[in-house]
Amino acid sequence: MTAQPLAMERDGPVADPLDAPVRRSSRPPYDDLQPTVEWQVNGICNYDCTYCIQSRKTRTGMPDQERVEAIVAAFAALPGVWEIKMSGGEPFAFHGLMKWVIPGLVEQTRHHISILTNFSAPPTVLERFCKLVGPRLRITSASVHLEYADMTAFLDKARAYRDWRAEHCPGSSFVINSVLVPGTVSRQLQIKAAVEDAGFRYFPQLMKIKGGVFPYDARETRLIETLTGGSHDPTKVNRAPSYQGLRCEAGAWYFTVDQRGEAYMCRTGKRLAVEDDEAYLGNLVDGTFRLRTQGGLCPYPICPCTVPVNRGIVRTGSRSQVNDGA
Ligand code: SF4
Ligand code: SF4
Repeated sequence: MTAQPLAMERDGPVADPLDAPVRRSSRPPYDDLQPTVEWQVNGICNYDCTYCIQSRKTRTGMPDQERVEAIVAAFAALPGVWEIKMSGGEPFAFHGLMKWVIPGLVEQTRHHISILTNFSAPPTVLERFCKLVGPRLRITSASVHLEYADMTAFLDKARAYRDWRAEHCPGSSFVINSVLVPGTVSRQLQIKAAVEDAGFRYFPQLMKIKGGVFPYDARETRLIETLTGGSHDPTKVNRAPSYQGLRCEAGAWYFTVDQRGEAYMCRTGKRLAVEDDEAYLGNLVDGTFRLRTQGGLCPYPICPCTVPVNRGIVRTGSRSQVNDGA
């Protein structure tokens, strides 16, 4: 994969990012590819789930206003229309989300906005979020964590959120994620039924451990097959598969950014960045960020999140790839 400076235009057209001609003429290499950034806006989270894949050490910190503005300005200079998918920690636990992040993305960029949340924000905040983000909202991925959340209250809030989205964010979609926590997989059958009975989409996620998927015992493996109908479709279940050796446009049309502005070609690339400096794309705040001119063959044994494959970043075949997957 070849690195080349992106026309960041920090001293010029950033002042009017929607008019920069370089972005109009830039096109992804495939019609079904949605350019996407996964932005870990902040580290802090208001929950402390026992099964959280993020260590307590990394679940800390948040950017100041200046840093948020610099990251948003860098997003504004990306070529074409991207999807900015925000996560944390918990993005709604960061006071700057509604003050700086959303207004900045809406006013300074032309991009779609998606969010991954534990859905613990108060209803008033979620309603204000819908008003602020408006028709730019694409996907809300709400994760239900029953160590903290009550299923009935969670679904009541999801119904209210559906009404606010219908009013302010037409065309947006909503999915409820649930981690298949080892030892509790049987409970997922009730969770799936409750979610689907309420008219929402249920998205199970196999539990990841460092470098792989948790080795479920035979009984829970059978339950997972029942729950998923045996599907390996990444729009229906996250099994954190391997795409090693397949063509992938990560680094060119997909990347991840952390709360400091550090950018990596993908999540696994970030985890292995010490050994694989090729995965590091620079920093969006200090001006060292560079997109690659094109992707390459996936070098990694696990692709832990379904975002790249469901946006057509990973070239797995001919099936429709840009969809409402989590
Ligand atoms: S809500 Fe998500 S980020 Fe927060 S502790 Fe739970 S799993 Fe981790
Ligand atoms: S397939 Fe997944 S793990 Fe491999 S390079 Fe692409 S995004 Fe990274």
